[in-house]
Amino acid sequence: MDPQRTCIGCRAVDDQSAMIRLVRVGNDVVDGTAPRLPGRGAYLHEGCADVAERRQAIRRAFGPNAKWKRGPQRDMMVDGPR
Ligand SMILES: [Zn+2]
Repeated sequence: MDPQRTCIGCRAVDDQSAMIRLVRVGNDVVDGTAPRLPGRGAYLHEGCADVAERRQAIRRAFGPNAKWKRGPQRDMMVDGPR
């Protein structure tokens, strides 16, 4: 049986393996699922990312200065060629 974790988006308890692990690195919150990053972590269903963002769940879990880096796709959209 997998360890159980609470999703910071929907607050449901689920298998740890069903969720991504978020870790705070400096003021950035990044996906620390694989390779598994050490440090303070929180768990989130991948599909609950929007809910978590709307609920300010990241800031509640990691503190007011934490900024969520939501993966390379978003950065590429911002920095990519027009
Ligand atoms: Zn969830």
